[in-house]
Amino acid sequence: ELERVSMHGPALPRIPLRERLRPGFCGLGIQTTACTHEKAEVAMKRQRVALEVLSYHALDDAIRLSKCLGAVRPRGTLKLNDFAFTDIGSSTELRALNRLDKMALLIACLCHDLDHRGTDNKFQKLTLSPLAQLYSSSMLERHHFNQCIMLLSISGCDILSPLTQPQYECCIETIEKCILATDLERHFQVRKQIRQIIDTGSFDISCPEHADILYGLLMTAADLSAITKPWNVQYKTAHLVANEFYEQGDRERSELNMQPEDLKDRDKRMRLPAMQVGFIDFVCQPVYTMLCELCTGLESLRDGCQTNRKQWDSLIDRSSAEGVRG
Ligand SMILES: [Zn+2]
Repeated sequence: ELERVSMHGPALPRIPLRERLRPGFCGLGIQTTACTHEKAEVAMKRQRVALEVLSYHALDDAIRLSKCLGAVRPRGTLKLNDFAFTDIGSSTELRALNRLDKMALLIACLCHDLDHRGTDNKFQKLTLSPLAQLYSSSMLERHHFNQCIMLLSISGCDILSPLTQPQYECCIETIEKCILATDLERHFQVRKQIRQIIDTGSFDISCPEHADILYGLLMTAADLSAITKPWNVQYKTAHLVANEFYEQGDRERSELNMQPEDLKDRDKRMRLPAMQVGFIDFVCQPVYTMLCELCTGLESLRDGCQTNRKQWDSLIDRSSAEGVRG
């Protein structure tokens, strides 16, 4: 079945013609038919995503798979306490968050990239991928959230089942907002608003809208946190991320016949240090600066980011000097 799917693309369920053309006797009739049609179409699109998930994982080449498995530590060697979530503990404001929200944040962090394809939302749109057909924005993030819900509903993984119905709904809603917040586009949309809240001194964690803003910012800060790590970790991670971008760039060239942006163009890899400095200045540093203005105890994130900026900056100097010599 998977082979058939991968060779010929998923077979799409067809809506019978009489269903599509059924005349409406009155406005309501037309609306009902339209609703049914819409539902069927959404179901169809969902099925396309499901088939794509299956074929993607079935086709993942064996070498890549074994590499991934090799990187996973055997279950017996891992203990929950091996993971230290010290950032939450070091901030008075974050320690004071309610337990349900803290749990939602942790689950959102763990699940925020589930079933990621190594390509971004723009690529989904350009290739008209099944995800782009199902959602019009934040396609990947919506998919990560759906995968999270799927895991949470599997018997044995349903760790939220002891919650009451209102608690459950609240927790799921927070997880959804948090996972969607990892779409950087969304961060840029609210950035001005966060700045304004900070500058007017009006931040109030008991206001649900402000709590959402803080949680969204925390998610962005966590997602970008490789930029705050010790230099050797940052250097390695930046190259791993860049390689993922180059792979997408290669596909944009070969499959879409387009020139990838500099960030995704492996021919411009010499410019990585300069691009990292730009990324820090325009994306990361404002995130950690604002976070430090909202919460105490997180200065190490902001300072780590600045330290890495200096390192990248020194690499620009060296590579341009080499360019002159060459
Ligand atoms: Zn991520």
